[in-house]
Amino acid sequence: KLQPDKDDGKTGLKPSRKSATVAPAKIPSHSSEIPSNVPYLLVGGGTAGFSAFRAIKSLDAKAKVLILSEEGHLPYMRPPLSKEVWYDPDSEKKDELTFKQWNGSEKSLFYEPEEFYISPKELDQNPNGGVAVARGWKVARIDPYKRIAYLEDGHEIKYEKCLLATGAKPKTLDIFSKAPDAIKKHITTYRGIPDYVELNKIVKETDSVAIIGGGFLGSELAFALTRRASLENPKLKVYQVFKEPGNMHKILPEYLSLWTTNKVAKEGVHVIANSEVQDVKLEGKEVSLMLNDGRKVSVNKVIVAVGVEPNTDLAEKSGLEVDPDCGGFLVNAELEARSNLYAAGDCSCFYDVKFGRRRVEHHDHAVISGRLAGENMVGAGKPYLHQSMFWSDLGPDIGFEAIGIVDSSLPTVAVFAKASDRDSPKAIVAESNDNIRSNYEASASSINSSPSPQNTEKSMVENSATDDYGKGIIFYLRDELVVGIVLWNVFRRMTVARQVLKDDRKYDDLNEVAKLFHIFDE
Ligand code: FAD
Ligand code: NAD
Ligand code: NAD
Repeated sequence: KLQPDKDDGKTGLKPSRKSATVAPAKIPSHSSEIPSNVPYLLVGGGTAGFSAFRAIKSLDAKAKVLILSEEGHLPYMRPPLSKEVWYDPDSEKKDELTFKQWNGSEKSLFYEPEEFYISPKELDQNPNGGVAVARGWKVARIDPYKRIAYLEDGHEIKYEKCLLATGAKPKTLDIFSKAPDAIKKHITTYRGIPDYVELNKIVKETDSVAIIGGGFLGSELAFALTRRASLENPKLKVYQVFKEPGNMHKILPEYLSLWTTNKVAKEGVHVIANSEVQDVKLEGKEVSLMLNDGRKVSVNKVIVAVGVEPNTDLAEKSGLEVDPDCGGFLVNAELEARSNLYAAGDCSCFYDVKFGRRRVEHHDHAVISGRLAGENMVGAGKPYLHQSMFWSDLGPDIGFEAIGIVDSSLPTVAVFAKASDRDSPKAIVAESNDNIRSNYEASASSINSSPSPQNTEKSMVENSATDDYGKGIIFYLRDELVVGIVLWNVFRRMTVARQVLKDDRKYDDLNEVAKLFHIFDE
């Protein structure tokens, strides 16, 4: 049976020193202190849950909102965990759960401090309502007809409206999950604060880590850990092993993926592309990864970053439908799974009125869909119309933002220009003082975004003649329509990209469309 951690009254802001493998504390420690009747119940205290309660409170100021979160922490943002947190080797730092943004200003990982929330015990009685978070508590099942959520210990919570915002959990590979315990000790996945706290200790001491996976997490983390090594542990070698030919190959067109891999390698990452792990052995204090081309990589720690699967454990017991292709709770365009029951964020397979059925695993989607679900829980009845964006940074100097369907298997057309020092994640954060890049759009300067129809000369370029992809615009096409756009080292232009997607036109000359993004201006 789990022993609760001592609650020092500021638990959400204090780093948990526990190993990632230890289950989180339960706060409150007994389910009897969790209300058994609430108007708004949010299952999952991640970004989608956070965004939903903000929307509910803005429409219904006295709302009583209960969040049940399996995690031991108050709602926090994950993006800095594979980026900014690793670039600040300040060993004097009191609190590991703050980080320096690319412009150097300090910020907490937590969306709100402990004082913002009220205790679950007080929620029912408080005439002004509030938001309470029960941490370390998992919902095992929902009865959508009776509108009851059941905790693992059988405690029942009756709700009026409920949101499933259970997110996703990292996948691993059979070769690791079936390995003996002595090997498993060297293997980890990476998703949340406890993983960061543990890895932070490891990288100070160890001389080698291997990251398996060439997607967002593997690429950002390989880059970040290598930079960290150069700052405080020069003996640390970072390997990145993945099966694709280049980094983020499922998103970026081949040439740009390979260019990125070159940059990652120049940073000092030992990149091993086109490779899969076939076997794993314990050799002294190290594990040896046998690769399919006969190579062997021996390291102290392996971080598996091979994607995630949505947390839908409770679906079957609750009679909820999971989409067979996307995974995730199946919801309509209003994000409803059943009457009074919604799903948002990574765990939701929703109907996008423009692009059809989708499941999206990005921060801004969690914000947008969480907000929409929250509004609909209060009665807005609005469909999903606003496209979310996402961003990825490889350190402070290389970054991109994207919108729509960005899938490298689609045909792409790209236009590149020479970049200056101002075209970097660091420069844009210096201007905005906000690491969450989806927040920029509202403050972006307005730019004329109507492509001129008379310029129809046929001169589409597959990619630019130069191999210096300083900054550029990549258009992803389906049936000759632009369905996705990557803004490569181009920032504050999401409004333009959104307009191009909305226009739903066939463009004869995407070079002209690229000009709307002002990439040639300086
Ligand atoms: P989560 O954040 O996963 O939250 C779900 C919560 O639900 C968790 O606390 C979980 O414990 C809880 N839960 C699950 N099941 C239950 C249950 N049965 N009962 C109670 N609670 C439950 N996206 C970007 O766009 N840009 C980035 O730069 C970026 N960087 C990232 C870096 C890292 C290291 C990671 C891991 C992700 C990153 N992402 C990024 C992705 C983004 O963070 C996710 O898409 C986002 O967190 C999804 O939010 P969510 O609320 O749907 O799920
Ligand atoms: P991902 O889906 O981006 O990448 C998965 C990687 O694992 C790919 O390289 C893929 O080929 C590889 N892989 C999958 N199955 C494999 C197998 N059987 N054998 C070998 N390799 C395999 O996921 P991720 O990089 O693990 O990221 C985890 C989650 O965090 C995702 O939801 C991601 O979107 C999110 N994330 C997003 C950002 C961002 O948006 N900037 C940053 C970090 C993490
Ligand atoms: P995957 O390796 O295709 O996905 C890896 C990562 O990329 C995930 O974070 C996913 O959310 C993201 N992603 C995949 N396709 C995307 C797209 N077109 N636009 C933006 N982000 C995208 O593995 P998976 O997640 O198991 O997906 C299996 C299949 O479902 C693939 O064919 C994939 O293209 C499709 N899918 C599409 C979307 C989407 O349209 N947004 C989302 C998820 C999956």
